[in-house]
Amino acid sequence: MGAAGTIPTEMRVIELDGTGGPDVLVPATRPVPRPAASQLLVRVTACGVCGHDLLARRGVLSAARGSVIGHEIAGEVVEVGAELPEPAAWLGRRVALVQRIPCGDCPECTAQLTTLCRVGPGFYGEDLPGGYAEYVLASPLNAVPIPEDVDDATGAMLSCAVGTGLRALRRAGTGPGDIVIVTGAGGGVGVHSVALAKHLGATVVAVTSSAAKEEALLRLGADAVLVSPNARALRGCVSDLGKPRGADVVVELTGGPTFPVALRSLAPRGRLVLVGNTEPAALPLHPGLTILKELCVYGSAHADRGDLAEIVDLVESGAITPVPARVWPLHEAALAHDAVERRQVTGRAVIVP
Ligand SMILES: [Zn+2]
Ligand SMILES: [Zn+2]
Repeated sequence: MGAAGTIPTEMRVIELDGTGGPDVLVPATRPVPRPAASQLLVRVTACGVCGHDLLARRGVLSAARGSVIGHEIAGEVVEVGAELPEPAAWLGRRVALVQRIPCGDCPECTAQLTTLCRVGPGFYGEDLPGGYAEYVLASPLNAVPIPEDVDDATGAMLSCAVGTGLRALRRAGTGPGDIVIVTGAGGGVGVHSVALAKHLGATVVAVTSSAAKEEALLRLGADAVLVSPNARALRGCVSDLGKPRGADVVVELTGGPTFPVALRSLAPRGRLVLVGNTEPAALPLHPGLTILKELCVYGSAHADRGDLAEIVDLVESGAITPVPARVWPLHEAALAHDAVERRQVTGRAVIVP
């Protein structure tokens, strides 16, 4: 086993003191985890605040009292397990992490479907302690080195806030000439989905519930921005952009509030990708519409290691410029949650230990 510098035995974390409002996020201490034979110990340098974290904190997901949430992690590898091949390739490297550590061996992993692995250590903040902490465990199966000129807060955004959109756009086969509607466009995944859809050659309609985010979305390259449009306004906008029969792709980042309008805005053979679920609810899938227009509805989970590596390349080459994060110190995680909940953050909130 190799280590870079002295690793303390205890670390600061923010844990859930029950579930509810932001004030359930409280400081605590924990033993620093020990890497297993093929694992990495990562000193967390930044952790993003995801909509998923808000749901976990409210008690909608599996997190309970004592959980350490946070799955959007960047850091530095400070220790490597004893049986890791090529430890020197990892020790001291700055890395961004995919939010799930897969096993690498199950049928899903063998088929390169690592987001579907349920055998490995799992998802940060649910199956293993998350990134609202000074240290986390990781693996070469979920870590990607990041270049020097990508700062820590940006590194923390790459897998979830940026990579989720790339995967969703790919699930829908997005390409040049498509009109893509992004709902929840002002959030962390939304702003980057707009930029990535433009990168893939699409025309982009950004849908947001916040008029204050309109200008930022136009600056990011959105061809049109609509604030809480009804179906008629959204269809009209897509028509004005050259497709009177509707949009080719919807990246649905909100779920309940926008799904019915988004579904109606699709052209025949349109593709809707469900990614976000900010207000968990059953969605009204209109069967007549779906059948007669031969629509496709996909689910898309999170980036895998290949997606994250591609995002790192896109950012390094300047093809995609992540929206600067708003940063809070770890002990003010509750304030970061409060700001995100009040929709005061365009892009990503990030906490740093
Ligand atoms: Zn996330
Ligand atoms: Zn697996």
